Amino acid sequence: MTYFRATDPFPLESAEHTKLHEFYTRLGEGRLVTTRCGACGATAWPPRGFCGECASDAFSWVDLAREGTIHAFTVQDTGLPAGFDGPRVFAIVKVDGHRVFALVTGADPATVRVGQRVRLAPVRVSDDPKGQPRWLTAFTPA
Ligand SMILES: [Zn+2]
Repeated sequence: MTYFRATDPFPLESAEHTKLHEFYTRLGEGRLVTTRCGACGATAWPPRGFCGECASDAFSWVDLAREGTIHAFTVQDTGLPAGFDGPRVFAIVKVDGHRVFALVTGADPATVRVGQRVRLAPVRVSDDPKGQPRWLTAFTPA
């Protein structure tokens, strides 16, 4: 699978570079998680090491729903690097009130619709610089 930097919340960072790397571990387990502030309880997307509401750096991981709804989408059918397969569907998927930018796989671009239900289907991409598995958030029609 090719690498789509725009859908990666922490591009090319290994566990040594971000305390949020566990996001990928859990995504690899089929769980979409984000951070919940330990002080005020706000959840964020993408996951954050400090709270955008109260600036606390205490957080815990919480699971988000494994299904969501396509809020908006676009289809990329040109400009893909040579040898890469297309077309590609990218969508903003509403999940538990958050808007998650992600790939949509296994969908005919001609049939994708706003409001369509999709389920989590993480995509494994190249390992991180330290050789740890890396995943990207992706959805497929439910
Ligand atoms: Zn907070």
